[in-house]
Amino acid sequence: MASIKIMSDNLANKIAAGEVVEKCSSVVKELVENSIDAGSNNIIVELNDGGLGGIKVVDDGNGMNHDDALLCFMRHATSKLINEDDLFFINTLGFRGEAIPSIASVSLFDLQTCSGDIGSHIVYRGGELITDEVGSSRKGTVITVKNLFFNTPARLKYLKSATSELRYIVELIEKLAFAYPKISFTLINDEKTVVKTTGSGNLLKTINEVYGATVCKNMIELKVSNDDFEVSGYICKPEVLKSNKNHMITFVNNRLVKNYDIFKAINDGYYTYKPDIKYPIVILNIDMDPTLVDVNIHPTKQDVKIGKINELQDLIRTKIDKLLKDNLLINSAVKNLIEEDPTFTVNLNYEMPVNTDFVINEEPETFNQEEAVNDQLTFDLGVDVPEQETVINEELKSLKLYPVGLCLGTYIIAENEEGIYLLDQHAVQERINYERYFKALKEHQNFKISSMFPITIELNKTEFLAIMENIDYLKEIGFTIEEFGINTIIVKEHPTWLKEGYEEEQIRMILDLVAVQMKEFDPIKFNEHIAITLACKTSIKANYHISHEEMEELLDELVQCENPYNCPHGRPTIIKFTQYDLEKMFKRVMN
Ligand code: ZN
Ligand code: ZN
Repeated sequence: MASIKIMSDNLANKIAAGEVVEKCSSVVKELVENSIDAGSNNIIVELNDGGLGGIKVVDDGNGMNHDDALLCFMRHATSKLINEDDLFFINTLGFRGEAIPSIASVSLFDLQTCSGDIGSHIVYRGGELITDEVGSSRKGTVITVKNLFFNTPARLKYLKSATSELRYIVELIEKLAFAYPKISFTLINDEKTVVKTTGSGNLLKTINEVYGATVCKNMIELKVSNDDFEVSGYICKPEVLKSNKNHMITFVNNRLVKNYDIFKAINDGYYTYKPDIKYPIVILNIDMDPTLVDVNIHPTKQDVKIGKINELQDLIRTKIDKLLKDNLLINSAVKNLIEEDPTFTVNLNYEMPVNTDFVINEEPETFNQEEAVNDQLTFDLGVDVPEQETVINEELKSLKLYPVGLCLGTYIIAENEEGIYLLDQHAVQERINYERYFKALKEHQNFKISSMFPITIELNKTEFLAIMENIDYLKEIGFTIEEFGINTIIVKEHPTWLKEGYEEEQIRMILDLVAVQMKEFDPIKFNEHIAITLACKTSIKANYHISHEEMEELLDELVQCENPYNCPHGRPTIIKFTQYDLEKMFKRVMN
């Protein structure tokens, strides 16, 4: 007779471990989130060798009594009440009830915890209880995890190098610090402090502690809401962009979320303010009714599905666009020279003495956490949060720039009472043209004119179909197009804003763009796209010598632009040397 065997809990734990625990950072994540839930004010994570040699999490939270301490190693044990919000929590953050038993089934897991009276010390090895004794009576919890995956060699080989494991953990702790600015987080690797936040409760100060003063100075506060959403946090000015997306950090109801639609809205908000290959530093929390969040799409990947996402996207995109427009400043040449790119590196700016032994399986805890915590509370980072200065984008509009000349056939030199300016003639004209085209396209005030010689254009089948499909849109922006035989069209009227003498070339360009973009045709995006392409193609190139009058005209037009500071590809149009910068460079002033 066939027998049905019930899978042992230990095996189930090991299998679950495969889903919950992929990296050292997943262990850290589960443990630190438990510490957060336990109401800790100070959480210290100590690693050996990026976590490969051991992970220790020390908190000053509520701790557990002996019963709970034993229970937390049982599958599906969770001390949390299940209400809707908790359900969201459970779903987004993983298999809460399974985390500890899973980790304990594939490691040497040492738990010291105390909720106020008698402490417990419990050790599991590969899922087997090996120690259950009275432990330290310090309130809070200390968990040490060593020999991760020692009994599942197949998993073991998926662990990355110490450096990349550390990198994941650094990112994780930084993000948690942003989500919980009231909690002090300390991350130590091989006795060096890598991340340290004071738990001041001030998000901007936390940003300063994580990213440093340069980034902090370039952050703009964002607060916007409608009936369904409340978005708050900070976004960066284009001065401190990053080359990867890891610094777009978003929370939904304070839970870390990676959502493509939200990222897209942020990126769209920065459209034309930054190059496509650069990404902003953004830390945003979105508060919304939990019923608008569907958390069941990806338990480990931190993704969620959001109802009314289009509204949320609009809210984020338009607010970012407005804030950037209001806060832009001329690039200062000297500031750019002096401040090196604060690209991500593990930050070792400060080191503090660490009086902890990284030992397990030996004598009782030698780590005096209270002392350590007190140390940190008085530990002064010596960095004040810089004052937020709001600069309205009127600086340039009131300026008159006087051209001095052109150098290298590309850069206009200009001056006024405040200093010297260098301008990229292509970028300048591109900005001017872009705004003109975009406005014309958006406002639909497209006075059509009949083409003197109607232009016939032969296309291939796909292009032809794409044009026919979007013929109404083309009409709306000023083109009267008719079918003219097989795969051929005739353009009878075109908008007035096409550059004279280049009409045919530009019409072909626009039709090309329509054909290429047919899959995801979004008129607003498309208008921007046409405007950028036309602007670039119709602007003076480098190595073309323009006259003094032309320079004057360009400068006057530039200062009237909505965003005079960068071209629509996000490159700067203008760089400033203040008189003070120059005096400093020539050592007329010494500080
Ligand atoms: Zn260009
Ligand atoms: Zn450009």
